[in-house]
Amino acid sequence: MSAHTHTPDPFDDDRQRDPYGIIPEGFLEAYGASSIPEALRKAERAPSTSNPYEQPRCPSCGSTKVIVKPGHREIDHKQDTDYKCGGDCGAHFDDPAPSKLEAAKQRAAERRERPQTAAAFESSEQARLDEVGE
Ligand SMILES: [Zn+2]
Repeated sequence: MSAHTHTPDPFDDDRQRDPYGIIPEGFLEAYGASSIPEALRKAERAPSTSNPYEQPRCPSCGSTKVIVKPGHREIDHKQDTDYKCGGDCGAHFDDPAPSKLEAAKQRAAERRERPQTAAAFESSEQARLDEVGE
């Protein structure tokens, strides 16, 4: 028997599945983890950035083949940006999109600050809509 009382906590569910769709597919497998908190902990401690989930992405196509341009902008560059997509789209940009890991963590953090139940969420959404309506 468990000593502690059972309190319904939506985050308990996160250990089993990802009902909110914040974790990219294959994320747990990438870290050899069996739960989302475990995977995030392992991700925090991971020494390298070789994991594709931790690499910045092209804001256009989401490719992790982001090329950091050499630092001398004065040199003859047609596009004055810091990065270039090495994937299919070849976009030039200054600010890479956050890695899938960062995006997932941001969304998880945002979710923590919101009401946890669907009913509370709906009422807060309604309140927001009401505010906008005025
Ligand atoms: Zn791209």
